[in-house]
This record gives sequence, C-alpha cells and structure tokens, in this order.
Amino acid sequence: MNVVETRDLTKVYGDVRALDGVALEVPEGSVFGFLGPNGAGKTTMLRVLLGLARQTSGSATIFGHDTVRDGEHIRSRVGFLPDVPGFYPWMTGAEFLHFAGSLFGIPEATIAQRVDGLLDMAGLAGNPHPVGGYSRGMKQRLGIAQALVNAPDLLVLDEPTSALDPLGRAEVLSMISSLRGRTTVLFSSHLLGDVERICDRVAVLDRGHLVVQGSVEDLRRAHGGATTFRLAVTDGVDRLAAAVAAEPWCVRCTPAVRDDGALDVVVGDLAGARMRVPVLVAGLGLGLRRFDEVEASLEDVFVDLVGGRR
Ligand code: ATP
Repeated sequence: MNVVETRDLTKVYGDVRALDGVALEVPEGSVFGFLGPNGAGKTTMLRVLLGLARQTSGSATIFGHDTVRDGEHIRSRVGFLPDVPGFYPWMTGAEFLHFAGSLFGIPEATIAQRVDGLLDMAGLAGNPHPVGGYSRGMKQRLGIAQALVNAPDLLVLDEPTSALDPLGRAEVLSMISSLRGRTTVLFSSHLLGDVERICDRVAVLDRGHLVVQGSVEDLRRAHGGATTFRLAVTDGVDRLAAAVAAEPWCVRCTPAVRDDGALDVVVGDLAGARMRVPVLVAGLGLGLRRFDEVEASLEDVFVDLVGGRR
C-alpha cells in the first residue's frame, strides 16, 4: 500500500513550473529519499503534500485521503520537520517536547510517557541544558523527536542533514534509520551519500519533473549503466587517463582522478577493458596498483539522470 500517492501534480509560480506532472508513490514502511539538485522542487512538493501550499493542478493523497479535501484526516497522522526548524532557546529538550505535544492537544499523561522515549531515541535523555546551547546536530535530533510527538504514521523531513557536520549527520541518519518499520519516513535531500546509506527507495526530481523512482538497488542496476573500473598506478595517472580515454571501450573516465589518486573508468566492453588495461599500463612503463570493478553509486546514477540535462 502507498502512504503517499500523487497524480499529475503540478505547481506553477509565475513562469516557473516548480512541479510538473509528478506521480510519486511512497510505499508504507519505507524510508524514502526524495532527491534533487537545488531548485528541483523538493520543498514545494513537501509543502503541497502537507497542505502548506496548494497545487495548481493534479491531486495528492496521504493514507488514501485527498490532501486538499480531507486535510483534517491527515494532519494528526503526519509529523513534519521543516528545513529551518524553530526552537525556544530557553526551554530544555523535555520542556520543548511537552510544549509541542500540548499544541497537538495530546493529554499530558500521554505526552509524559512519550517524551522520555523520544529524548532517549534522540540521544538527549537527562540533558538539563536549554536548547539555546545545543549543537546543530542536537537541535536537529530534537526537531525529529518533536515531529514524532504525535506518534505519526508518516514522518516528513525537509533536508534534515544538510546543515550538519559528518558526525552530526551520522547521528541524525541513525535516528531516522531506527524508525524503519515503525513509521514511513519521507525525507528530501541533495546529499546522495546520506540517502544511499539509509533509504530503501528513492525518487529523483529535476526541475519539477520526476525523473525516476524505485529501490536504490533497481536504480543502480537500471541506470548505473556500464561497469566501472577503479584503476591506480604507481605514478603518471594522468598519462594513463589520456590513454584510457582514447580506447573504444571507454565510455567515460571523469572525474579524471579521484582524491586518492585512483581513476574511475566507465567501460562499455568489459572483456576488452580487462585485456587492454594491463597492456596500456605496461606500455606507459607504469606499475598497476589497483584494477577493481566497482559498483555504481547513487551518485553515478544521479549524474547520469540529472547531469546530462543541465
Ligand atoms: P532547494 O534545495 O534549493 O531548497 P528545492 O528542490 O526545495 O530546492 P523549491 O524550493 O521547491 O526547490 O523550488 C522550486 C522552484 O520553485 C524554484 O525555481 C523556486 O525559485 C520556485 N519557487 C519556490 N517557492 C516559490 C514561491 N513561493 N514563489 C515563487 N517561486 C517559488
């Protein structure tokens, strides 16, 4: 069953088609990554789903209820964390969650029961300090806890990791991941590595168009395309890159050289590449340090799908 379903969803701002005929399907229980470059329409999509903006045409349902006609049936079952969440800096985390729960009209005894578990999940249990002194990562985790205070069946997060350092991101991702199977999570991001780490399914939006959606594995298989080899040599990788780029089996050898000095080469003819690479390396008088087949990353898929349209 799909928790979120949109049909031909379109949102126009003046000359800009922020969403253009989008048909999104978010299955129940999934951790769903909604990907796209800046300006793709991700925030617009989430705002329309949440009833914070009205579509120009098309329709959207959440739990089978139309988001425009039946908004009141949906709101109590959805939690939302905007991209720039607001906090009262003088409150402690516990006070903030109590306050957020009271806004939903949840009975005080129920809130009290939930707050401890949520603070625990956010790694903030027992923290007596006001939110004003929290790190960005702590604030973001408290934000997610706040979005869960009404025990939602769907949690929507707008770019929950983009302002965080690697450790903060890892903690937020692990918190989101811990919700798997308990609630459906839909989150937007332009950080492909984050999505790849925790999502079962993804959709890619580009300039208002839904370019693709499916499981991360399916996308890798269908759009990762040809095999990628990672090559490393003792010295003179630039010369090897030039020689490889001139070979008929080389589909792409960009970015030419990775930070670690290795070269990623997308090849169309696997057998040809296997035979020719050692010959090229030897011909240039280089030593071969690494010659591995690597799996296409979500980033490769993304560049294939979105990069070519720039
Ligand atoms: P980002 O990652 O930069 O936030 P996004 O994928 O969330 O990007 P949106 O913020 O949804 O993208 O914007 C999609 C397009 O719609 C952009 O061209 C943007 O300028 C335009 N847009 C969004 N909101 C409005 C608005 N209220 N009025 C006019 N144009 C808007």
